[in-house]
Amino acid sequence: MGTRIAVQLEAATSVQGNAAIDAVMQEMRRIDQRFSPMRDTSELSRLNARAATEALVVSAEMFGLLAQAHAVSLQTDGAFDLTFASLGRYYDYRKAKKPDPATRARLQQLIDYRGVILQPKTRSVRFSHKAIYLDLGGIAKGYAVDNAIALLQRRGVQNAVVSAGGDSRAIGRKKGKPWTVGIQDPRKPDAMAVVLPLLDSAFSTSGDYERYFVEDGVRYHHIIDPDTGDSARHLRSVTVLAPDATTSDALSTSVFVLGLQKGLALINRLPGIDAIVIDNRGVLHYSNGLQRQE
Ligand code: AMP
Ligand code: MG
Repeated sequence: MGTRIAVQLEAATSVQGNAAIDAVMQEMRRIDQRFSPMRDTSELSRLNARAATEALVVSAEMFGLLAQAHAVSLQTDGAFDLTFASLGRYYDYRKAKKPDPATRARLQQLIDYRGVILQPKTRSVRFSHKAIYLDLGGIAKGYAVDNAIALLQRRGVQNAVVSAGGDSRAIGRKKGKPWTVGIQDPRKPDAMAVVLPLLDSAFSTSGDYERYFVEDGVRYHHIIDPDTGDSARHLRSVTVLAPDATTSDALSTSVFVLGLQKGLALINRLPGIDAIVIDNRGVLHYSNGLQRQE
């Protein structure tokens, strides 16, 4: 995945604990092998290569995650859109490469989740045109964390926290106290902006400091605004708290694109979900559920 995985858990013995961690790592690899757009053999690569020419029957797992992503696209009016990658694939943040303006303008117009046609009856997927390319990078890490937590619970683990990059989920407690997670200061790699307790919930942070390069004073980073084809520039970091990590992952990316007003309005409409936003001046903003009740 190119992502740092961290697992902390309480187990009766170190043998049980290590076996549980191995199982989590194996599950992470399995998910990466299915959903990575970079691996030629993944199910996602098969879709990207062929779904524009024929309707492809996919695994129940693939269909489920695509359907969930589609629901978030509807909910966010297209701010979250897996087809961002039709253009996004031409950015290479490690090599500081971006598409030329003509390519960007042409492909930006083709970003549209409605071009991915899901047929539940046959569990098949078809793309409405050739340029469509999907990347599940905004939701798959959260999904992997949810699967890891479910797997640990099946093994009888009651206290654990699992993270994949900026997506975490906790169950139970750490030595009787809530697990805590931090939100990185977007401009100081070693500093925390906020530390929060996590009680049986999930937590995802999207930031403009994760994968980026700077050219002529402009920061190009990995979250693409489907409306402009450019990196979303309203915010520096968005953290979403939700009952599960698939939801927090997709919504953190979404709010990052939507910006402060629209993003927090969305979060405030969703019961049981909260957000902490750091705007592009470094100021923190909280959703209604996190505002202190005086
Ligand atoms: P996250 O760190 O969870 O915010 O995910 C960032 C990743 O989401 C990027 O690396 C892309 O793979 C993907 N992504 C970027 N822009 C979008 C978008 N507008 N909608 C959905 N996924 C996106
Ligand atoms: Mg995300």
